[in-house]
Amino acid sequence: MRCFRPSGLFLTFILAVGSLPAQALTVLKPEAAQQGALLWAQSQPSASVTVSGKAVPVLPDGRVIIALPFDAPASVPLVETLANGQKQRQTLAVKQRQYKVERIDGLPPGKVTPPRDAALQARIDREVAEIKAARAVMTPYPLFDTGFVWPLTGRLSGVYGSHRVLNGKPKTPHYGVDIVQPKGTAIRAPADGVVRLIHADNYYSGGTLILDHGYGLNSAFLHMQAFHVQEGDYVPQGFVIGTVGSTGRSTGAHLDWRVTYNGVRVDPALVAGPMPQ
Ligand SMILES: [Zn+2]
Repeated sequence: MRCFRPSGLFLTFILAVGSLPAQALTVLKPEAAQQGALLWAQSQPSASVTVSGKAVPVLPDGRVIIALPFDAPASVPLVETLANGQKQRQTLAVKQRQYKVERIDGLPPGKVTPPRDAALQARIDREVAEIKAARAVMTPYPLFDTGFVWPLTGRLSGVYGSHRVLNGKPKTPHYGVDIVQPKGTAIRAPADGVVRLIHADNYYSGGTLILDHGYGLNSAFLHMQAFHVQEGDYVPQGFVIGTVGSTGRSTGAHLDWRVTYNGVRVDPALVAGPMPQ
């Protein structure tokens, strides 16, 4: 039997590597940095990282996800603080996008901000809080390592970032992609995940499902007709989670798919890549 005994040379090599200056945070595919993009970067397990001044999770293997919001500025500051307190600063150049804007002027004020009675407002507030709580669950496991596929394919009737300007007042942008398919069409998990919320009748989004992909990355599926999973279920990528509907404030059968990373809404079309034909 042969035994391995570290030679003096080998030990010197280990000590030399250990004393090398630490490598700074490396953004993978920085050329893909654009508003609404989700990028991966490599840091160190013991480091802490901020993006635009906000702390983001550093995975046990040192990976960091950088989520760029729809209105991210052209340069985003990244700061990595190493275990020894040393700070490394860099800026990420972010491509600015042109979103689809629909301007409507001369509307009566009631159409710009429709009045709501107290009971409806209470219901909406409750549902928003439920969704926020479901999205806030921190699962320390990179379920997203499966990568992402489209939950279903079809014509897009709505895209990320598009918004209306009513009487000069910009409304909340559309954060999802709307995929048109008939009611009953299967919706598949775009990546591995855990079902964190099923709400059959949300005021706005009707049948709503939230899938947790780990570390604060999650998908929401809106206007669904039926659910084939339950809260707490682990679902592998490709598993049928339910079907397309037209529930809630919807004008026709479609799936609205949204992707959020720790409160930052990103473009699902950039996460899933080109839709297969
Ligand atoms: Zn939509």
